[in-house]
Amino acid sequence: MTIELDVRDLVGRPGSSRAVHVAEPVAGLRTGLAVVPEDRAVDLDLLLESVVEGILASGPLEGVMTLQCARCLKPFEGSFRLDLREMFVPGTSTEVDEYPLVEGFVDVEPMIRDAVVLSMPLAPLCRQDCLGLCDRCGGDRNVGECRCPPEPDPRWSALHTLGVEWPTGPDDGIP
Ligand SMILES: [Zn+2]
Ligand SMILES: [Zn+2]
Repeated sequence: MTIELDVRDLVGRPGSSRAVHVAEPVAGLRTGLAVVPEDRAVDLDLLLESVVEGILASGPLEGVMTLQCARCLKPFEGSFRLDLREMFVPGTSTEVDEYPLVEGFVDVEPMIRDAVVLSMPLAPLCRQDCLGLCDRCGGDRNVGECRCPPEPDPRWSALHTLGVEWPTGPDDGIP
């Protein structure tokens, strides 16, 4: 998928510039717990400036992503706004932070993809104090689904993992 912009009017004319608005859905914007729904357009207000090296593209990128809480797994929506500032240069570039300018056209889709995917949180939270799910019953602790008794004292379980046996007296032997 490409979002190609014709910049032939700017190439080779340093100092000239033009604003362009892009509103397009971009497929495949996702990481483990975050996705930009494919039916929701991302919104890009780009200023294209001709410079000696190529085309400098800058401006805000806005959209909505659906996130899944890393603790309680509940889906929720969040909006994002990123400020982009990227160079498009002719020829094969060795710079990782530059994008190609090919015969007067630039494809802004890889720039959008890189910016959005990099901004996606690895462990999104539906709220900062989300209590998450119970390890034992799987109930959502935020809504009181979990009725498990309190965890056993961790000091005793530590003794068990160390293989400590409780002393057994002569009276409590196996019947
Ligand atoms: Zn949560
Ligand atoms: Zn529980």
